[in-house]
Amino acid sequence: MRFALSDTQRIEATPKAVGTCPCCGAEMLARCGTKKVWHWAHKGRRHCDPWWENETEWHRSWKNKFSPDWQEVSARDAQGELHIADIKTPYGLTIEFQHSAIKPDEVIKRTAFHDQVIWIIDATRRPTDLTQYAQMLDYTYPERFDGVDIFTVHHKETRLLKEWGSLGRIVGFDYGGGNLCLLTAAQGHNRYLFDLPKAEFIKSILEEKPLPVVQFKKPSHRRYRRL
Ligand SMILES: [Zn+2]
Repeated sequence: MRFALSDTQRIEATPKAVGTCPCCGAEMLARCGTKKVWHWAHKGRRHCDPWWENETEWHRSWKNKFSPDWQEVSARDAQGELHIADIKTPYGLTIEFQHSAIKPDEVIKRTAFHDQVIWIIDATRRPTDLTQYAQMLDYTYPERFDGVDIFTVHHKETRLLKEWGSLGRIVGFDYGGGNLCLLTAAQGHNRYLFDLPKAEFIKSILEEKPLPVVQFKKPSHRRYRRL
C-alpha cells in the first residue's frame, strides 16, 4: 500500500519508517527495496484486503494523478470483509487499476461491490493485446460522433474485449502512450471504443464531469477498408 498511518497522518513508506494500516490498524513494515515500488506491507500476516494486488509503477503513476485523500479508501462488504478502492472520489465513483490477470467471476464480484466503478486495465502486460488492438483498428472505420472518432467492434473481437467488454461498466484500456482506449457503451454484440487523452480522462474525473458516452440509435454495420 502507498500509505500507512503515523499518529493520524498518512505517510509513505521510507526506510525504517513505522506505521499502522489505515484500514485494519495492523502494524506495517516499510518495504523499500529496489525491485518493487516502495510500499507498506502488513507485518507477519496477510493483507487485510483479500483483493489487494501488489502495486507496480503503473498503479502508482495512475493513482498519483488524484488527491492522496482519494487513494486507498476502504469499505466493508455485506459480510464485513474489507476492501480498498484504488481511487474513490468524494462523489462515490471508484476507479480500479488492474495489472494482473484476474478471473471473470472475481471481476463480477468486485464490480458488484464497488457498483459505480471504472476499470482501467494495463493493456501492455500481454504483448498480444497490443497486436490485436492494432489489427482491430486497422480494418475498422471510425465514425465521428459527439466530437470523437468511434470504433464499432464486435464484443469478442479481442481477448481484452472478451474479458472486459460485457461488464456493463466503463472500461479504459491503457496501451501506454497518452491516450486511453475507452469503452463507454455497448449495444447487442457491438462495443463502441474511442481514444481519449489520459489528461482529459483525469480532468473529467477530478471535475465530476461525465465521460463521453456514445450510444448509436441503430446498431451500425461494420465497414471494411477497401484494399
Ligand atoms: Zn490492513
